[in-house]
Amino acid sequence: MRQADSPFLAPLKDMGFRLALVHGGLALVALAIAHLPFLYFGLPEEPALEIAAAVAGLASSALLALLFSRALTRPIGRLTEAAGNIARGDLGTEIDVNCACDVGRLADSMRAMLSSLRASTAMAGELASFDTATGLPNARTLLPLVEAALKTDARGGAVMMVTFANARRIAETFGHETAEAMLAAGVERLLSASPVGTLETNRSRVLDPARRDLAVLARIGSQDFALLLPGVSDPQDLAHLAGYLHVAMNRPLMVGERRLSATLAVGIARYPDDEATGAGLLRLAALACGHAANRAGEQRTSLFEPRMREAVEERDALEAELRHAIASDELQVHYQPKVYASDWTVSGVEALVRWRHTERGLVMPADFIPVAEETGLIVDLGYFVIDKAVAQCAQWARSGRLLEMSINVSPAQFRNPDFGRQVLSIISRHGCPPTLITFEITEEMAQTDAALMERHVALLRQVGIRFAIDDFGLGYSNFARLSLLRFDVLKVHRSLIAALETDGPAREVSRSIIEIGKALGCRVVAEGTETPGQVAAASTLGCDEIQGFYVSHPMTIEDFEQWQARRGQSNLARIVKSIFGPDFVDEAPADPPARRAGR
Ligand code: C2E
Ligand code: MG
Ligand code: MG
Repeated sequence: MRQADSPFLAPLKDMGFRLALVHGGLALVALAIAHLPFLYFGLPEEPALEIAAAVAGLASSALLALLFSRALTRPIGRLTEAAGNIARGDLGTEIDVNCACDVGRLADSMRAMLSSLRASTAMAGELASFDTATGLPNARTLLPLVEAALKTDARGGAVMMVTFANARRIAETFGHETAEAMLAAGVERLLSASPVGTLETNRSRVLDPARRDLAVLARIGSQDFALLLPGVSDPQDLAHLAGYLHVAMNRPLMVGERRLSATLAVGIARYPDDEATGAGLLRLAALACGHAANRAGEQRTSLFEPRMREAVEERDALEAELRHAIASDELQVHYQPKVYASDWTVSGVEALVRWRHTERGLVMPADFIPVAEETGLIVDLGYFVIDKAVAQCAQWARSGRLLEMSINVSPAQFRNPDFGRQVLSIISRHGCPPTLITFEITEEMAQTDAALMERHVALLRQVGIRFAIDDFGLGYSNFARLSLLRFDVLKVHRSLIAALETDGPAREVSRSIIEIGKALGCRVVAEGTETPGQVAAASTLGCDEIQGFYVSHPMTIEDFEQWQARRGQSNLARIVKSIFGPDFVDEAPADPPARRAGR
């Protein structure tokens, strides 16, 4: 370090002043050297001697000038070298220049710059390698550790993918910050329940190459975590460990005053058995985790099995075929009628998509709607169905048949900000009365995408389009939230309708749900009614409409037209029969069972 500055010495720190001093000093030295001999020996008689003295004076002053300038430029050379090292990325370089001059000040500035460069590089490295919310290494940092374990760990091991299955829901309900805080609290529990222990141990294992044969926890997605377990590959040991992780979440996690329950799903892939690459192993663990997340029950853990990979491959093939099907008109819309419970006349139909596959035959929505939803194909598929159904409804309306058309919509369709406008344009293009259209959305969607829902619902309701909650009672109904969103129709799920024929609590739940629907001012539709008993009970309890196999299965448009014609005939025939006698055979139920029973 340089000495403290003094005001008298300040000019000396100026390089120009120093050079002037040096020049002056050297001129004096040259003069002295040239005149020294004459001072001692008197004036020379020979001019050659005088010239030799002058030359010697100049030569020695030139030598001194060279030495001085070397001394002055050496620190600059060192600075240049250090700057070059820094530019090449060597931040460990030291700036070894200490001088009470301009160059010294430059060196000080460079030192300050270097230390802030080191700090920001360290910060950038931290951000690139670790997750700030939880302090865990991220996927980028984990991958080389997994690769290294695969290469060097002869004992075998595993990757355990842990997902906080309800984190998204928590974020939607309480906000992103609360969800992040819950995850940070959850991570502490995971660490202490796993062989890692603490955040510090985890970190030191990541940073210290000598400790890389030990377990490490990383955050690899918004709610996904991966536990690398070198040396643990026995399925039973892994199952026990997963059990500890689940148990660790038994107690609620505290976020401020809030007590939040975390639900985990755990997927395990082992090496070297399951996969030979790091990225591949993580993918298989994620696949197993997805399976675990879809499993019902308390402890959702799945060990990777090859059939899971086959299912994914099959799904990929299905996606490609579905893409092709949408483009090449392989999709069809079938219609399932609904009748009024009061007089058994047809109130309308529900449009249900079908895929007429060239090899597989008729493929049902359950086999391709989830793939369409995952891949975004549902948007095009959805517009196809809306277009067909609205066109059909408009055609009926033009011929004087005012049949209501119910159309199912998925969350992904609603997420498209243009959805409302597109729907209105389809409706106006076909000249369909909007009051005949009802969109069916699932209860879960109404709960999780409430803000999105409100936006589209408000726009479409203005023109008279109705909204129905589909499959009501299938999930965990949140009546408080549902009552905030206005719905016109509540479709009670068939499991509740089936319960109407039983005795006991299930029947009471169904009865209460129908009553709640009525209290919310909704029209209540009994879905999936299959027996006369269900129809009778649903009607007695106040359901307004009946839909289900008892009335009719979904049909192609041609079959539906024939079905309706037959019903019309059978109504006519009944009148005839009442006049001419009882020998008439009904082909399709045209009356409620109670009436038929009493006939
Ligand atoms: P959903 O909207 O609840 O439709 C009713 C489903 O129950 C239909 O199955 C129908 O065939 C079936 N069903 C009707 N009555 C009965 C009955 O009495 N007993 C039984 N066991 N089942 C009955 P489907 O056509 O296989 O459709 C399944 C689901 O796929 C639909 O449930 C709906 O959520 C979805 N879906 C169908 N078409 C579309 C579509 O065009 N777009 C979207 N986003 N989803 C669709
Ligand atoms: Mg439906
Ligand atoms: Mg339904």
